Amino acid sequence: MNRYQMMLISSITLILTGTILNVYHFINTESLLLLAIGGGIMILLGLFLLGSWIGKAYTYICMDCFLRIDLGVVKALTAPPAGGDCRRVYCPKCRKRTNCKARRISLRAHVY
Ligand SMILES: [Zn+2]
Repeated sequence: MNRYQMMLISSITLILTGTILNVYHFINTESLLLLAIGGGIMILLGLFLLGSWIGKAYTYICMDCFLRIDLGVVKALTAPPAGGDCRRVYCPKCRKRTNCKARRISLRAHVY
C-alpha cells in the first residue's frame, strides 16, 4: 500500500467514524457532547484529506480550450459534478465555469 491509498482510506475512515459518532450522539442525547464535537472534527479532517487526495489524484481538462486545471482542496470538494467524469470548474483561460473532464494522474508518475 502506498501513501496515496493510505490518504484515501484514512480520509474515508475519518468521515465514517465521525459520522457514526455524530449519529450516536444524535440518537443517544445523554451521551457526551464531546463525541459530537470530536466526530465533527474527524469529518472535517477527513474531508480535508479527501480534498487534497482528489487534488493530487486527479487533474481536470477544460473541454473548451483543453487547459489542464489542478484543483485545490476546497475546489476539489465543492466543484459540482456535470455528468460522467466531468465537473463544473472555473477555467482561468475561458474566464468562466466550464465542463472539465477528470483525468487520473498516474500513481507512478507522481513524485512526492
Ligand atoms: Zn477553458
